[in-house]
Amino acid sequence: MIKDYQSQKELRERYDFCIIGAGPAGITLALRLAGNGRRVLLIEGGGHEYSQPSQTLYNCTSTGMNVYAELTRLRFLGGTSNHWAGRCRPFEKSDFDVAPPVNIPGWPIAFSEIERYLPAAMAIVDLPSDSGFKAINASMDGNDFVADRFLLSPPTRFAQKYAKDLQETEGLDVFINCNCVDLEFDDKTGRIASVVVSDYDRHRERVTAKQFILATGAIENARQLMNSESLASAGVVSKDGFVGRCFMEHLNLDLGTFILGEGQSTEPRQYFTSDAFVAQFQSGKGNVSAALLAQVQAYGRAAAVKDFLENLACDVGLAHKIDFITRFNCPGDGVITTLIEQFPNRNSRLTLLEERDALGMRKVNIHWELAPEDRHTIKSIGLEVAKCFAETGLGFVKLDEYVYDAAVPLKVAPHAHHMGTTRMASTPESGVVDENCKVFGTDNLYVAGSSVFATAGASNPTMPLIQLALRLADHLNHQGGPASRYS
Ligand SMILES: Cc1cc2nc3c(=O)[nH]c(=O)nc-3n(C[C@H](O)[C@H](O)[C@H](O)COP(=O)(O)OP(=O)(O)OC[C@H]3O[C@@H](n4cnc5c(N)ncnc54)[C@H](O)[C@@H]3O)c2cc1C
Repeated sequence: MIKDYQSQKELRERYDFCIIGAGPAGITLALRLAGNGRRVLLIEGGGHEYSQPSQTLYNCTSTGMNVYAELTRLRFLGGTSNHWAGRCRPFEKSDFDVAPPVNIPGWPIAFSEIERYLPAAMAIVDLPSDSGFKAINASMDGNDFVADRFLLSPPTRFAQKYAKDLQETEGLDVFINCNCVDLEFDDKTGRIASVVVSDYDRHRERVTAKQFILATGAIENARQLMNSESLASAGVVSKDGFVGRCFMEHLNLDLGTFILGEGQSTEPRQYFTSDAFVAQFQSGKGNVSAALLAQVQAYGRAAAVKDFLENLACDVGLAHKIDFITRFNCPGDGVITTLIEQFPNRNSRLTLLEERDALGMRKVNIHWELAPEDRHTIKSIGLEVAKCFAETGLGFVKLDEYVYDAAVPLKVAPHAHHMGTTRMASTPESGVVDENCKVFGTDNLYVAGSSVFATAGASNPTMPLIQLALRLADHLNHQGGPASRYS
């Protein structure tokens, strides 16, 4: 049943599970746990639709490179799936087998742990089970770049697709306009005793449950942990620990331009770094997209489109991309764009600000920073792409200066893929959650979503985070003993 906490203060006394946040991660978990006979509470801070009072609670500041965190998240039922694009690409075995070449470990679990949930995750985002992840086009060079493979979800809007299930699944209570504002930790038992929820008039109430799962997106998951004074005074969250650290994005940057080789197909192409390339260069992974921009001309109606794009792009900080477009006049010219892996980096991090939001929670600053190893990835991919274009006759590439000269500031935009802020590790010395997504130092607090990613790879995060949510649901169902709802 979906109820509005603003007008219906009808929380039960106790639940088996309390899940905080109703995006893809939270909705997936709630339906799995309730479907197994558990008494589940799913609390969602926003309403059925976008509203300014809710969205404003996401306001934060930014230093380093701009993440545009207020534009790239949606705070209402269904979460950011209300405007995601639906591009799905699975993690690969090498994402789990190969440690990043930085002083921080990679995934502590085997690839098979998430691979087995791929078919179920595909069904959740409406990808046909028999479609497979097929190569988009021929490889450019078998050793360096393979043809990329991904699928497009419709894209699935979780609040719409699962509306009936959220309404009718027995044992599931969904409360909208119900904001988690504190996690209350009891250091004698090592357990979260309750969470405090608030409506928009700051009416507060305690919720109790056996287990709690944070599923509020990568920035808010860390923010919730950092805001909890009881977790801080018990030492579960500390300034030197990993909560909020290792914030990762996929790098959205242009490598440069190209002139298409004679007789080459004008179709857009998608390439992906091979495992051999990554091993040879000790670099991160990356997707490379090559497309012609002949259709964008600076006269007539196209000029008006260009003006519009220029204004829009300046608003969201993508001016450099438009700069590319405005420079194109030759029908053979194209642009090479990317989605590149960022390695975990302790200095790329969230910190608490003194300033509080309308419900009394401290805001965060996001300091998004790259390491020299990331510049190395960009340079390796850029130089090899240019080489492969020339060798295969695909075209001639003019790289942007920042690709090969680390002294030139990068022009990089985010992909709206927030990851790593509560990273999974085998010990608290290198992460926040254990192999079962349980927060180190607690007995009953779990995290779902891409904040647990130990490394980012170069695959879109939503389908993998659903795989991990399904794995977590299985873990919680097994360790919780017999279903309690009817007992
Ligand atoms: C424009 C855009 C395009 C994208 N395209 C793709 C794509 O093609 N492929 C891909 O894989 N990914 C894509 N993404 C990323 C994708 O949207 C996210 O990976 C995904 O939504 C994360 O799911 P989540 O459940 O972890 O978090 P979210 O979807 O962010 O959901 C978190 C939920 O928690 C709620 N919440 C927050 N704080 C509180 C609180 N204090 N109390 C209660 N509830 C709270 C929020 O309201 C929200 O409903 C895109 C993102 C954007 C912005």
